[in-house]
Amino acid sequence: MNWAVNLIAEVPPNEVTERVVWCDGGSGPEGHPKVFINLDKPGDHSCGYCGLRFVKKDHH
Ligand SMILES: [Zn+2]
Repeated sequence: MNWAVNLIAEVPPNEVTERVVWCDGGSGPEGHPKVFINLDKPGDHSCGYCGLRFVKKDHH
C-alpha cells in the first residue's frame, strides 16, 4: 500500500533556507519521532517517516 506516498506527492515541497530541517509529521496520530533532514545536496529531500518533501531555497 502506497496511497499515503501518492497523496503526499500532491503536496509541493516545503521551501526552506536552512541547511537542516526537522520533521515530526505534525501533532496527533499523523505524527512521528522528530527527525532531522540535511538539505546540503540539491533537489528534494523526503522525510523517511511521512514523505513530506523539503527543498533548500538558495539566496542569490
Ligand atoms: Zn515527517
